[in-house]
This record gives sequence, structure tokens and C-alpha cells, in this order.
Amino acid sequence: MAERAQSFRRRLLNWYARAARDLPWRRTRDPYRVLVSEVMLQQTQVSRVEQFYPRFLARFPDFATLARARPRAVREAWDGLGYYARARNLHALARAVAHRDDATLPDDPAELVKLPGVGPYTAGAVATFAYEKAVPAVDTNASRVIRRVFFGKRAARARPKDVWDIARALVPKDGKRAWRFNQAVMELGALVCRARSPACPTCPVRPACRTGSRLAPDQRGRRQGDESERAGQ
Ligand code: SF4
Repeated sequence: MAERAQSFRRRLLNWYARAARDLPWRRTRDPYRVLVSEVMLQQTQVSRVEQFYPRFLARFPDFATLARARPRAVREAWDGLGYYARARNLHALARAVAHRDDATLPDDPAELVKLPGVGPYTAGAVATFAYEKAVPAVDTNASRVIRRVFFGKRAARARPKDVWDIARALVPKDGKRAWRFNQAVMELGALVCRARSPACPTCPVRPACRTGSRLAPDQRGRRQGDESERAGQ
């Protein structure tokens, strides 16, 4: 496990340095902006979020502005993204933050999960992507990658707790590296290790992967993916 983990981490980070998409929420460490992007990405494609994200931020640039807004205005700004419960939760969360003594978003996942609409993934994502904490953030994409790489044939049967435990062990201790690692696992799941058509033949981590390294030689040139996926988080 230790050798596989090391190889996986090294290959993944090298690939991410070359192949990562330049997405607006990757250029900021502002907790509010990171949170808004995470909530939007939960059930919406990246390309759509890229359109709505700057508009929403222009209208509601920070927690205080969002907290003061009328529900109807928030709903209007969310129009086109769907799944309006997310907008309601985000609004409620902004109000909860505004009532905190320091009026800021906590950096501890254990505190973050107490806020409206924040589950374990979002808590980890905010902690690592905004505060560069060395904690895991396992969304659907990251979970799929970890299952395939570390569980191989048992991927579908792996318990969520076991996946999170592996993610925790994999995250680099240095915060900036942890940020890159967490982004990279999700990026690999979105671009290469897709749900229905994993691109194993060209995958940068294949030598470290229990699933990809089992491919027969004649399959190695054939399994090309054709779908684009950004999983819900
Ligand atoms: S080798 Fe295949 S299964 Fe393994 S991580 Fe890459 S794409 Fe996913």
C-alpha cells in the first residue's frame, strides 16, 4: 500500500501540473468564493458553473451581502442552475456566518459540517481549497478514483469509510501540496478515470492502479473514453 500510494501521489501530482484546467475557483483562496463554487458544482456541469459563478459573485460578493439579500433575489440569481435547495442552504449558511462572532467561515471540517447544507465532502473541500488544510475531500470523482486504484476488483464493494481512510492517508501533510492533491484526484476522475469510460490506456497513474494495471495488452490501446463528467459533490 505504501509503495502504491507513493507512486500514485507522485504520478498524479506530475500529471496535474501539466494537465489541470484553469478554473476560476482555483485562482482564489477566498472562503466565500470557494464555498459558492463548491455548492454550485454539486449538481451542475463545470461549463455551466463557469457561466453563472462570476454573475452570482458580482451580485453577492461576500457573506454579508448574501446574508442581507431577500430570498427571492437569491433565487433569481440562481435561476438556470437548478436544484434550488442549494441556493436556500447557501443563503441560510451566509446568515449563520454573519451571526458568528468573527463573521467568518470556520476552517475546521468538524465545525463546517454543522452549517446548513454542508456535508463531509464540502467541509473537507472548503478546509483544503480555502484554508489549505491537509485534510481529504472525497467527492464522487475522487471516490471512484480511489476505489479503482486501491481496491481493484473490490472497488464497488469498498465502504465509504475505507475510501475516506485511504484519502486521509494519501493527503500530503503540507497544505499547498494537499490543495493540489485534492484538486488533482477530482480532476483525474473528471477527465480520465470517468464513470463509464475510464481512459486507462493513457492514464498517468495506471502503473500504480490495481484496475488499470490489470488490463490485457490488447486492451491497452482500445479503451478510449468519450464522455465528459464532473460528478456531483
Ligand atoms: S488506470 Fe484506469 S481505472 Fe486506474 S485510475 Fe486510471 S483511468 Fe482509472
